[in-house]
Amino acid sequence: MPRVALITGASRGIGRATALALASIGWAVGINYTRRMEAAQQTAADVEAAGGQALLLQADVADERAVSAMFDALAERFGYIDALVNNAGIVAASMPLADMDAARLARMFEVNVLGAYLCAREAARRMSTDRGGRGGAIVNVSSAASRLGSPNEYVDYAGSKGAVDTMTIGLAKELGPRGVRVNAVRPGLIETEIHASGGRPERASVLGAQTPLGRAGHADEVAAAIVWLLDEQASYVNGALLDVSGGR
Ligand code: NAP
Repeated sequence: MPRVALITGASRGIGRATALALASIGWAVGINYTRRMEAAQQTAADVEAAGGQALLLQADVADERAVSAMFDALAERFGYIDALVNNAGIVAASMPLADMDAARLARMFEVNVLGAYLCAREAARRMSTDRGGRGGAIVNVSSAASRLGSPNEYVDYAGSKGAVDTMTIGLAKELGPRGVRVNAVRPGLIETEIHASGGRPERASVLGAQTPLGRAGHADEVAAAIVWLLDEQASYVNGALLDVSGGR
């Protein structure tokens, strides 16, 4: 029986790299996406080409019903869940807070905070040993922004990741006694399409050159940390906020 992980935002970037890394060591993966079906299908095809099992799961993580249906579909296919990688997230155009409208702020917190909480809640309901689950692990994908604050770029995004850090600390204490370890990774500047979605495709490579390691990171370098946190090798790691930021 393979271990089963649900990865939100697995069509592209860090989520996709995590799906491929988990599949390469025998996990079955639920591949969530919201809009980019072709990219999600490509991730699923690559997982299957590597001998793994993949289930495509379309859902906006900010939509409570869709999230619950997504976990139901995973349970129907595999019968159980061992891990959640709470990875889906968005940025928006760089600007000072004074120029942000309420719609932008609402969507930022809907996806990055409400979405992460809803997915963690569904995982808690299904993985906790006191609710009939098998235990397991959750990894929340936060950001170095939560400690840097991202002034003049996106203090909204940074604050949303601060909430993810705090959820990680609380849930680690809440779910640890119930068989579920909860940790976070905090990536720094990683080469993915998220920077283009904020209007600055060159952001990671330009700012990455100024970091202690002199470059941006790659999605598979973040995936490696996520895989380790999910694995039994990290069996005594709970409530950790692991920076994967090249020392930035
Ligand atoms: P990305 O390349 O832009 O990919 C984002 C993924 O999230 C896509 O699979 C996208 O699905 C999905 N997604 C977006 N909104 C969603 C929603 N409402 N519901 C479900 N899925 C949704 O981003 P990334 O760089 O890999 O980022 C992944 C995570 O790492 C995010 O939480 C981000 O904040 C965090 N992070 C990234 C960096 C970095 O430098 N890249 C640094 C720190 C933290 P579609 O393909 O369907 O749009």
